Amino acid sequence: MNIREAHAKFATDEQCLQYIQEMRWPDGVIRCPECGEKNIKRVDRSAESKGKNKRGWFYLCLEKTCHNQFTPTSGTIFHDTHLPLIVWFQAITLMLNAKKGISAKQLQRDLGIGGYKTAWYLNHRIREVMQEGSIPKLGGIVEIDETYIGGKQKGKGVWYGKKQKQPVVGVIQRKGPLRFIHTKDAKADTLKAIIEEHIGPDVQYVMTDDSSAGAAALKDSEKHRIIRHNIGKYVEGIVHTNTVESAFSLLKRGIVGNFHRVSIKHLQRYLNEFSYRFNRRNDADPFIETVRRLCGFAPLPFDTLTSEKA
Ligand SMILES: [Zn+2]
Repeated sequence: MNIREAHAKFATDEQCLQYIQEMRWPDGVIRCPECGEKNIKRVDRSAESKGKNKRGWFYLCLEKTCHNQFTPTSGTIFHDTHLPLIVWFQAITLMLNAKKGISAKQLQRDLGIGGYKTAWYLNHRIREVMQEGSIPKLGGIVEIDETYIGGKQKGKGVWYGKKQKQPVVGVIQRKGPLRFIHTKDAKADTLKAIIEEHIGPDVQYVMTDDSSAGAAALKDSEKHRIIRHNIGKYVEGIVHTNTVESAFSLLKRGIVGNFHRVSIKHLQRYLNEFSYRFNRRNDADPFIETVRRLCGFAPLPFDTLTSEKA
């Protein structure tokens, strides 16, 4: 969904609310979130009782001892927010569509949000749900490599705080999921632990270049294939690490272009956002999943989240 489609589909807060309602009660039977009662009624607020942040109506639970008042957003992040749902929905769309990520500053400009803090909060909260939960181990052909983010860059000054470069390991299954992991170092033991955690035993091949610490970590593996960058070889048949390298280059362009000071503390969150978006690049509608996550509704089964499987 692009921003224009988002505008058309969600032109009013009421439409956004309806969307969340259908997501929350997919069978169309609205139940009280407190007691589960189906016997409820819709109550419209009078103009004078509509507070600044109140919706124009609510559901009233008719169970005698409950009498809970609720709306489709009750108990979700959208309930207490001062921001119109339209702004949230547009922010989600912008973040999902920005291949290299979008800064709070840009979000502020694009959505015409008054304060930077508000834009930062939106950016941050949406990023917070853009991370994989437990996902299966990678299989098929996997590429692994490490890179460094930040530190002093030629001609760019210091764009990663004033701290030293941070190692990031990339693991990607060809035509499959990507993981970026911020590590304390890029030594063979560190890579070994990542390989054990992220790559399944049935993997067909694991590709590294000859200078990667992954090559040392995999030296005893018969599934390991090396592309010898140091003698100028970049592709030999199926042996290459171009997939993980292009993911790194996208990440770096995103960080250089959008996030001038990514602190070490937040680096993994940015990495998660990048891989979340990357892993859904062929999905029909990652918007639904992201809204679900923001609402805290049960996740969809993994199969529906990835269009390409192992
Ligand atoms: Zn109730």
